Amino acid sequence: MDAEAPPRSISTHLRGAFGACRGVWRHAARMALEIALPTLCLACREPVDGDGVCAGCWAKLSFIGPPYCPRLGIPFVYDPGPDLLSMEAIANPPAYARARAAVHYDDVARTLVHALKYQDRTDLAPAMGRWMARAGRELLAEADALVPVPLHWRRGWSRRYNQSGALARAIERQSGVRLTSEALRRVRPTQQQIGLSRTERASNVQGAFKVATQRQSDIAGRRVVLVDDVLTSGATVDACARALLRAKAASVDVLVFARVVDTHRAPI
Ligand SMILES: [Zn+2]
Repeated sequence: MDAEAPPRSISTHLRGAFGACRGVWRHAARMALEIALPTLCLACREPVDGDGVCAGCWAKLSFIGPPYCPRLGIPFVYDPGPDLLSMEAIANPPAYARARAAVHYDDVARTLVHALKYQDRTDLAPAMGRWMARAGRELLAEADALVPVPLHWRRGWSRRYNQSGALARAIERQSGVRLTSEALRRVRPTQQQIGLSRTERASNVQGAFKVATQRQSDIAGRRVVLVDDVLTSGATVDACARALLRAKAASVDVLVFARVVDTHRAPI
C-alpha cells in the first residue's frame, strides 16, 4: 500500500523541524571535525595547540621590535637614543614617512609568504595580519585608509587574488582602519624584482602605479598605510607612495609582513 503524502501543513512543519536539526547536526559535525582534525602549524603543518605556528617555528620567526630606525623600521642592535635615524634613512630618504615590519625575512617567514602567494593558503592571512597590526600599531592609530600594493590585472587573474589585499583585509579586521583596494592601480606590468640591482628595481617600478582619477577622493587628504608582503629594497612601496602623494594623500606609511635586513650593514 502506498503511503499517502502528509497534508501540506504537516510536511511544511516537518521540513522546518528537519531544517533546524540539520543546522544542529552541521554545527555538531563541524565541532567533531575540529576535535578530530587538530589545527596545524601554519608554517610546517605539524599539529599545534591553538592557531598560528608551532613552538619550533615560533622560535625561528624573528619578530622586529624596538629599538629600530623611527623612519625605516630597520632594527638597531643597540638603542642609539630617541629619533636617531639609520644611515639608510639619511642616505636614501624614501617618499613614505615610516615603515614597519612584523618579522625578518628569513626561512620561516619565506615559507609563510610563499605559501600565501603561490599556494593559495589564504588561511595564513589572519595570523600574519595580526602580527602586522601589532608591529604597525602606532601607524594604524593615526591612519584613515589601508591600501594594498596592487598586482597588475594580468598577474592578478593568473594568481586569482592579491596577497597584499588578503593581508590588508586581515589588518582591517584587527585595526578597524578601512581598506581602500581599488584606488591605487598598477598601470603597467613590471618585471619580477628578484635578481635586479637597487637601481634596476627603482626604474622597473617607476611610473608603474597610479591612483585612478575617479578614485582620487578616496586618497586625497587621507593618512594612508600601504600594505605589502615583503620589503626588500623598498622600490615598489616607494613608487606606490609617490603615486599616492601625487593624488594628495596627507601622509603615506608602509606596513609589511617581512623585511629583508642586511645584517652586515647594521650598526655594531
Ligand atoms: Zn611549525
